[in-house]
Amino acid sequence: MTLGRFAPSPTGVLHLGNLRTALASWLSARVRGGRWIIRMEDVDGPRCRRDLGEGQLRDLAALDLESDNPIVWQSERGAAYREALAALHRAGHLYPCACTRKDLQQLASAPHLEDGLRPYPGRCRGQIWEGWERALRCRLPEGSLDWEDRLLGLQSDEPARLTGDPLLFRRDGCFAYHLAVVVDDGAQGVTEVVRGADLRPVTATQIRLQEALGLPRPDYAHLGLVVAPDGSRLGKRAGALGLEALAARGISSREVLGWLGWSLGCQERPEACTPPELLGSFAWNRVPMGEVRVPEAWV
Ligand code: GLU
Repeated sequence: MTLGRFAPSPTGVLHLGNLRTALASWLSARVRGGRWIIRMEDVDGPRCRRDLGEGQLRDLAALDLESDNPIVWQSERGAAYREALAALHRAGHLYPCACTRKDLQQLASAPHLEDGLRPYPGRCRGQIWEGWERALRCRLPEGSLDWEDRLLGLQSDEPARLTGDPLLFRRDGCFAYHLAVVVDDGAQGVTEVVRGADLRPVTATQIRLQEALGLPRPDYAHLGLVVAPDGSRLGKRAGALGLEALAARGISSREVLGWLGWSLGCQERPEACTPPELLGSFAWNRVPMGEVRVPEAWV
C-alpha cells in the first residue's frame, strides 16, 4: 500500500512552494488509493517552534489536507534516533568529528555546489567513538548510486561528491536532519517521498544511510521550486505567500488550490477547486519539471 508524506520543518509559515509539495504528495498517494501523513521535522533546535508547526497544520487543514495518522513530531523521537546511531556504531559506520565550522570552510576544496553544499572531506575518519559528547559522522561507501525520480527520471549521484560523510549527531545533542528523515521514513513505512528539488542533491546520501540501516528505499519525486514572477528565488518574499497573507489580499484557499493544481498540470486554467476535484487529472507525466512562477498579482 502506498504511503505518502509531507514533512515540513516548523521554522516559518508554509509558502506556496511548501503547499505545492504538500498537495502533490497528497495527490500522488491518493491517486493510487494510498494513505498520506504529515510529519513535523522539528529536530533543528531553536529554529523550530511548536506554535509555527501548529500554524502549518491549520493551513494544511484549511486546504483539506489532513494526516491519516496522528502527527509525529521529531523532537519526541530522540530514543529512536539514538537507537539508530547505536546500530550504525555497532556496524562500524560512525566516527566522532572534531572539525569546527572554520575547519570545514578551510578544508573544503570543492567549489560551492548547489545551495552552498560542500562535501565533508573526511578529515576525522579513523577517529574512535568515545561516547555522546562528540559530534558523529557516518562513513558512507564510495561510488555513485542510481535512482529513478518519478519526475526527473534516472538520477546518478555520489554522496562523496555532494555531502561527503553526513553529520548525524551534533555536539549540542541535536540529531541531524539526514538521520531523522531516514529513520522516520523507515519507521512509518513511507513508500513515496515527494519534496522540493532543493533536496535532490542529498538524496544519494539519504539512500546510502537507508542501506546502512537496512531500511527500504522509498520512491522519490523532486518538484521544481516556486519562484518569484521574474524567476528569482522567493527568499524573504516567501513569508508573504502563505495562506493567511494571501487571504488578507482576498485570495481564498480554494483559489490557491486552483493555482497549485494548475501548476501541477491537473487543470488547464487556475480555477478554484478542492483537492479531490484534482484527483481525476493528476499524473506524474503531466507535472511540469521546471520552476513555477508565482502570479504577478499575488506578490
Ligand atoms: N523537513 C524538510 C524541509 O522542510 C523536508 C524533508 C523531506 O521532505 O525529506 O525542508
